[in-house]
Amino acid sequence: MAVEPVESLSREEIRQLQMERLQVTLNRAFLSVDFYRRRMDEIGLLPEEVRTLEDLRRMPFTTRRDLAEHYPYGLFAVPLRSIVRLKITNPMLRDRGQPIVVGFTRHDVSMWQSLMRRLYAQLGVTDRDIVQVAFNFSLFPGAFTFNHAVEAMGATLAPSATISARLQLQIMQDFRSTVLATTGAFALHIVETMKSESIDPHRLHLRLVLLGPDPLPEITRLRLEQGLGVPVYGLYGVNEMVEPGMAGECIEKAGMHLAEDQFLAEIVHPLTGQPVPADHEGELVLTTLTTEGYPLIRFRTGDVTVLRDAPCACGRAMARLSPILRRTDNRLSIRGIPFYPEEIEMLLREFDPALHDFRLLITTSHGVGDQLEILLLREPTPDYPGGGRSHYLEALRSRLRRALGLGVRVTLVDRDRMPVEGLIYRTAFRSGEPFCPV
Ligand SMILES: [Zn+2]
Repeated sequence: MAVEPVESLSREEIRQLQMERLQVTLNRAFLSVDFYRRRMDEIGLLPEEVRTLEDLRRMPFTTRRDLAEHYPYGLFAVPLRSIVRLKITNPMLRDRGQPIVVGFTRHDVSMWQSLMRRLYAQLGVTDRDIVQVAFNFSLFPGAFTFNHAVEAMGATLAPSATISARLQLQIMQDFRSTVLATTGAFALHIVETMKSESIDPHRLHLRLVLLGPDPLPEITRLRLEQGLGVPVYGLYGVNEMVEPGMAGECIEKAGMHLAEDQFLAEIVHPLTGQPVPADHEGELVLTTLTTEGYPLIRFRTGDVTVLRDAPCACGRAMARLSPILRRTDNRLSIRGIPFYPEEIEMLLREFDPALHDFRLLITTSHGVGDQLEILLLREPTPDYPGGGRSHYLEALRSRLRRALGLGVRVTLVDRDRMPVEGLIYRTAFRSGEPFCPV
């Protein structure tokens, strides 16, 4: 199995490499990004004074709000002509007034691709594999990296994008796909389809399944492994940095190895911002180490995890993240599209001043991935904005689709059908079945 030289470094060597690269990042940020120069000036810190992680902790955190406030190019460290790719996160939704745009130089794109290649390699994927990549590329632009990395490593790419589960299975059989990369929700749907079509997993040639970008709960892994008869692995990325490719599981399934040669991780208490003891749960804070276009220093990801740097049975010394199943905020993700309930509320209230209350219902077992349904309770008024009830619902659905990039089911409910407590509900059943609050 291919192991890059950097993956054979000891903890000590990794730490040293990180500190060297941190110097370069801080210098770049100081010289090229006003935002970071002002911050360093304010606390009287020069890049060359940062020699340890403790020194770095003098720098304030960078938050999502900072990113949004400097939209579009305020945090870019290179001129636009050096940027070869732009990524806009939630273009229609507004994070305190602005979306976020991330820029990648040629080096950044190549680094991202090499990280993805590393993740494939650490699972034993080689140039003999046929990798079927089944993502909605317009909703999850990072999915292109799955494709590029497959080609770069000389394996065979079978892009199947958003075609139905039945056709995916047909391709899997005809092409003899050995690796499937998709979302957890769609993989579950494929398993359901196999059951309903009586397709024996042994008729497939799969060796493994790689899931992203949402976290992989153990129960989902178990169901998929039983249904597909092959190991299932998870990976991790950060929308504002590199997603996917930042971290991923090895065959030991004992946490996701973080690319510590590219990112410096800290785990802090979500409320105090203070470091938590080793092996304790906290919020992941990341600093880019070689990123040219959009360097981020102490970026608060909002993801709650544990970082372990004990040696892994696979031999890699890169620290491992536990699966990220909790956030410090209430961000939701449906089929890889992140959004906040507040953003939905703002949109609903803009659309309908008579809106009284709403609930978000996420159904996980049917259809192509998770489905979002919004239950609406209106003030007792017969007037609907935009005409009658059906026009109203249609216009609202269309507005939500444009804003989120997702098809959303909208249901008007009576007061007695509205769940009383909580805002977000998850269910494994269709609407109408009992709700299970998050
Ligand atoms: Zn490992």
